[in-house]
Amino acid sequence: MVAGDDDANPTVKRPTTKTAKAKSTSVPAARAEQEDPTFTAKSRGTAEIIRRVARYLQPYWLISVTTMGCALLSLAFSFVYPHLIQSVIDGVSGKSPAANFSRLSAGLIGSFLLRDLFNGLRIRLNNALEQNVIFDMRRDVYARLQRLPVNYFDQRASGDLMTRVIEDVNSVERILIDGIEQGTLAVLALIIVPVILFRKSVLLGFVTLIPLPLLAGGALWYTLTAHRRYRAQRQAASAMNALLMDNLQGVRQVKSFGQEAHEDVRFAARAQDLRAGTLGIMRIWAVYSPAMSFAASLGLGLILWVGGREVLAGKLSPGQLVSFLIYAGLFYDPIRQLHGLNQLLQAARAAGERVFDILDSPLERAGGESHRPLPSPVRGEVVYTDVAFDYAAEKTVLRGISLHARPGEMIALVGPTGAGKSTLVNLLPAFYEATAGTITIDGQPVNETTLESLRQNISVVSQEAFLFNGTVRENIVYGKLDATEEELFAAARAANCHEFITRLPEGYDSRVGERGVKLSVGEKQRVSIARALLKDAPILILDEATASVDTGTERLIQEALDRLLRNRTSFVIAHRLSTIRQADQILVLRGGRIIERGTHEELLAGQGLYHQLARIQNTTFIEEGFEKLTPIS
Ligand code: ADP
Repeated sequence: MVAGDDDANPTVKRPTTKTAKAKSTSVPAARAEQEDPTFTAKSRGTAEIIRRVARYLQPYWLISVTTMGCALLSLAFSFVYPHLIQSVIDGVSGKSPAANFSRLSAGLIGSFLLRDLFNGLRIRLNNALEQNVIFDMRRDVYARLQRLPVNYFDQRASGDLMTRVIEDVNSVERILIDGIEQGTLAVLALIIVPVILFRKSVLLGFVTLIPLPLLAGGALWYTLTAHRRYRAQRQAASAMNALLMDNLQGVRQVKSFGQEAHEDVRFAARAQDLRAGTLGIMRIWAVYSPAMSFAASLGLGLILWVGGREVLAGKLSPGQLVSFLIYAGLFYDPIRQLHGLNQLLQAARAAGERVFDILDSPLERAGGESHRPLPSPVRGEVVYTDVAFDYAAEKTVLRGISLHARPGEMIALVGPTGAGKSTLVNLLPAFYEATAGTITIDGQPVNETTLESLRQNISVVSQEAFLFNGTVRENIVYGKLDATEEELFAAARAANCHEFITRLPEGYDSRVGERGVKLSVGEKQRVSIARALLKDAPILILDEATASVDTGTERLIQEALDRLLRNRTSFVIAHRLSTIRQADQILVLRGGRIIERGTHEELLAGQGLYHQLARIQNTTFIEEGFEKLTPIS
């Protein structure tokens, strides 16, 4: 297309760059795919990918048109010089009237200058366009990702999703910008240049076309073989990233179990998959690219052979032959570029399938027009009526769950691990949707309530306090972004964490590290309680911590929790016998059903499972008790 600009034009060079990059980061998917269905995405046609990506260009139509205009002008000026060369050669060999060399050389320099000026402008605009589209697409993918149901994340590896947002988005965008522009220019050149060629010599025009069937056949072969390989490579890249992320998060476990060598082997296997996958792509590229280049050059040889005889026969001037050869080069160039484009296209298609898999996944709550906010103020009356739930069709997790929590009551859930306690409470903020029965808050069904209102009115404090990698202040105000300084301090005081925070080197502005590693377990818990206090939702879900902390810390946490529980309807997944004594209702779950319910005293009198549990001595955590009980019950 634009002659002589390959080195200066990053977009033209990219197929090679991409391959090199793929070498270092991507993977063979075949093994990853077998191991884990996580990394696959629905297969889609190239046309669909291009059409969908092209929508991202719409807001930037002006830049797109200008870029294309610059590219066309640059192309047009690159057509001038073969013609000038012809005049020079025929002038010096006496085949045409003596040429005005100063005008010819000024014309030549001028046309090159304009070609390169327009090309420079095109590169500049093209880069801006690319970055805008990448930004928009990445933002869309992230926004969508955040609004997908929890279930979606249960099935995926975070490293895979990160690869989609970071690497695949880039790859998809490139087909759009580079692809459309290079493709259009190449096609234009392929239409315009033959017209010039046939006007110069019909015979040589036909000779130029001889390699075309070879070139077309080669492109078809590459397209058909490459997609599967690119797909496999993207999946392998993803699988390696997922493993890396998992290992980085579990670095303490790896060390404490002394499994560094084992992890080296696992990582090497994924990295080897990536190497094999990338080499697989490069192997066919190494055959395809030179073969196509040779096929095109074959044409030049044929033109020289037939054209030379025409010159000798006096049917063609030497200048005409030389300019014909240069124009033929301008014809084969875009064909070569179309091959690079094909490579780009196959890579983008594989990446696009993965990106659009996210964009097309159903939102947490599709068709939300019928949903309404909870009537304000929320009192916090929660009723479950005959609720059932399964994660997968074949396995029932909850059955026939009915309960009634009056405003301000504390409901303790106890039962062996896997009984369904977490699942039961996760239905309330609609992390998962009940498969049967109804759940209401103040009489309004949860599945008719907007997620925003629902989650505003429910705080969740989990067993392992999760803190974001930021400052203590940022972590607490996450519960209420517009909180005043007084509100922040009040919440921190009530959560018994103000004191330790002020003792940190930078107080509230101290950084907590990833997942809060720089704080102790007890400190993290209190920060997460402060966050919930600041949010001040009328309903609370609390998964009590199971980790043992020293008595002093435990007292601080307990006080903080007592303040958090006050005047709220709370569902407490209780792990400590000491906690449940204060509950208004205790629900004993087993096998997804509520098998006993009542207050501590009522249940003790009932001679059931709870009664047996309470009689076991020396047990701090309820689950331990259940384990000891299992043989009896
Ligand atoms: P509990 O909180 O009482 O320990 P859970 O509610 O966590 O029990 O789990 C109940 C059952 O559901 C268990 O058999 C568990 O394996 C299964 N389960 C929990 N979470 C998921 C999930 N995200 N996907 C599939 N199954 C799950």
